[in-house]
Amino acid sequence: MNTSTTTDRRTFLKQGAVGLGTLGLMAATSPLFAREDEQPLGVALVGLGYYAIQKLAVGLQHTKYCQLRGLVTGTPEKAKKYGKEFNIPEKNIYNYDTFDDIKNNPDIDIVYVVLPNALHAEYVIRAAKAGKHVMCEKPFDISVKKCEEAVKACKKAGKLLQIGYRCQYDPYHQELMRLGQKKVMGDVKLIRTGHSFYGVHNDNWRFTDASLSGGGPLMDVGIYCIQGCRYTLGQNPIAVEARTYKTFKDKMPGMEETIMWHMEFEGGAVANCTSSYVSRENFIHVSAENGNFGLEPCYGYDGAQGSARKHQLNFSTRNQQAAQMDAFARNILDDTPVIASGEDGLIDMQIVEAIYESAKAKTRVEIKY
Ligand code: NAD
Repeated sequence: MNTSTTTDRRTFLKQGAVGLGTLGLMAATSPLFAREDEQPLGVALVGLGYYAIQKLAVGLQHTKYCQLRGLVTGTPEKAKKYGKEFNIPEKNIYNYDTFDDIKNNPDIDIVYVVLPNALHAEYVIRAAKAGKHVMCEKPFDISVKKCEEAVKACKKAGKLLQIGYRCQYDPYHQELMRLGQKKVMGDVKLIRTGHSFYGVHNDNWRFTDASLSGGGPLMDVGIYCIQGCRYTLGQNPIAVEARTYKTFKDKMPGMEETIMWHMEFEGGAVANCTSSYVSRENFIHVSAENGNFGLEPCYGYDGAQGSARKHQLNFSTRNQQAAQMDAFARNILDDTPVIASGEDGLIDMQIVEAIYESAKAKTRVEIKY
């Protein structure tokens, strides 16, 4: 390895990241080639439900800088089934009681927490204490306090933390960042965005157990709208005003069915957002001084579509989960800042708490970060 070249590149990467600085915009580069002496980093998935198996394990078949090497599950049948399917040696399969022993396993560099929302911070903290870098699914957890504890634990352990905001690594969303943050059409004035699906009759923990979900659609898919507005503007909202609605009164105890909220930004931009489990929507429309741009579909896995000043956007994309995980692996290998960081996830939870406070009090709430 040529040390001076490596040092130069690291310095360049760090300076580049600081120079661009604003939210997510530094995501725009594609992964660099692996150095000759590098080995892919080992990832252990914690919680083998829908997203871990259908999306992340699949994404890990397409990564260059990390690979699936471990599983953590409370269900022995899943350990057997997926251990065989993904060729994971028995010594790299843990349950929730043996999980902390992962600290002695050099095959695993990164722990990816894909559990129900309320369990995220606990496992991020346990993973950091075990000396592993951590990826954690969105939302970061269900309270600001728990997210703060998890950020602190990773810092204390000297380990990197990424929140699973896959859209930040997608070229269509990076174009939203460029158009908005660089003011390509002038100042952004108004954003309308919605992310909803018809899930009210499902019996997954999301729809039935508020102690695990921490809320309704806002916690699950509405959080993408918060992200979309923040990275389009490169700003955080200063105040919110929200209302919740329910048509199936006996469903989703302790959770909203539909939520609508406004966000006000410094400089005057406003956003109007919706998230619901009784409708279907997936878009962001942005109005700037000299034109409009946006995406629809927007936040899904299967490819966004959109336009800017009526011209169709057209980018080549790769598997979002693979792009996100490879970017994190590069952050570890190159000692560069994480794009969708723990701090980013924490800010979203501060906004979520203000939105729920506003909906409860039926009044405008200013946000303190
Ligand atoms: P899921 O219900 O399919 O999977 C959850 C897993 O956790 C299951 O395997 C379950 O057995 C396990 N588990 C462990 N302890 C549990 C407990 N006490 N109660 C219930 N289940 C327990 O859920 P999912 O759709 O895979 O979602 C998991 C996480 O991933 C959520 O935080 C969700 O927000 C996130 N997610 C992210 C995306 C994305 O696009 N980034 C998409 C889907 C889900």
